[in-house]
Amino acid sequence: MSITLLLSIFSLININLFPRYDGVVVEFVGEHICRPVVQASGNTVRVEFNEPVALNENLALPLWIDMLASDSFSVTIEFDLLISSVDWALSGDSASMIVFGRAEEEVLLPPVAWQSPPAPPDTTLWSDSLVLAALERGEGSPWLVDFDCIVLDPGHGGRDPGAVGRTGSREKDRTLEISLMVRDLLRIRLPELRIVLTRSVDEYVSLGARTRIANRNRADLFVSIHCNAAENRSAHGFETYFLSRARTDDARAVEMLENNVLELDEVSAVPDDPLSFLLADMAQSIFQNQSSHLAGAIQNSFSQAFPVRRDRGVKRAGFYVLRGAYMPAVLVEVGFISNPEEEQWLKSLDFRFKAAQAIVESIVEYSEREN
Ligand SMILES: [Zn+2]
Repeated sequence: MSITLLLSIFSLININLFPRYDGVVVEFVGEHICRPVVQASGNTVRVEFNEPVALNENLALPLWIDMLASDSFSVTIEFDLLISSVDWALSGDSASMIVFGRAEEEVLLPPVAWQSPPAPPDTTLWSDSLVLAALERGEGSPWLVDFDCIVLDPGHGGRDPGAVGRTGSREKDRTLEISLMVRDLLRIRLPELRIVLTRSVDEYVSLGARTRIANRNRADLFVSIHCNAAENRSAHGFETYFLSRARTDDARAVEMLENNVLELDEVSAVPDDPLSFLLADMAQSIFQNQSSHLAGAIQNSFSQAFPVRRDRGVKRAGFYVLRGAYMPAVLVEVGFISNPEEEQWLKSLDFRFKAAQAIVESIVEYSEREN
């Protein structure tokens, strides 16, 4: 049959992606790559071969690539950014080809190679009873020695939309988009770091489940990402919280807003065991210095990224989502979705990218201090 014949002469090609500050390098690796025709238009690069190819494409696309698709003779890559020109080169032995799509605007990324996240370590090393015993002695969780795992927590999700802006923008969408960017950027900056998300799609995850994910993964840091909301539409700026009793009325209001979702949780998600609740509070007081240091670092890097926006400072509040975490934990409110101007910003990729970068910078700084 003709299909079998066609398949038998397919040249199998693997693809690697390397983001750079000035564009993206796409590497094609195969047994023999024939000379292609490479074209760029808008945000798309198309590589056409004059013989059938099959793509080995089981790879997680970084955020700045929207789509990677192939038909029998060509490969199409759709970028998240405009491509101004494209260059390519084939190696002497025809076993690899590099296509460089030059971005029209600078991509704010360091020029390092893409690496897939490392395999999860053996987490059976620390039993829960060891962890609880350490906390009861006023010591940190025993796995915190090396900074090798972070949990990113995109606020809300699924049936819990979070705050909703005047033009219908939902907090749960914005927090997920920013968190995924933080993940992608962290993979580049700290390739050895294991990154776990409490959700990577639009789904409901109870507040209790979020910290359970962090504890189960023996994470060294828990970062919850939210958008703020206030009755007063002119309220604006960014602020970062760590766990404590709320100190100000404003902090108490934000605490109420973010804890509200408890009503949506299954009854079982609300702790009925006062001892474990107390222990969780103790844990966060052990980590208070580290948490407040990270919160300060996040505020600093936001001030640098957004010098004209209002720095609302580091605050303390009793967020339920931070409570069960046996590791330093913070909650970032990147902006007010209830403020019309900030809602528009939150809708822009550029703003979200800058916010993600600011979060990443502070995590990198934190990791350097901790390791
Ligand atoms: Zn929220």
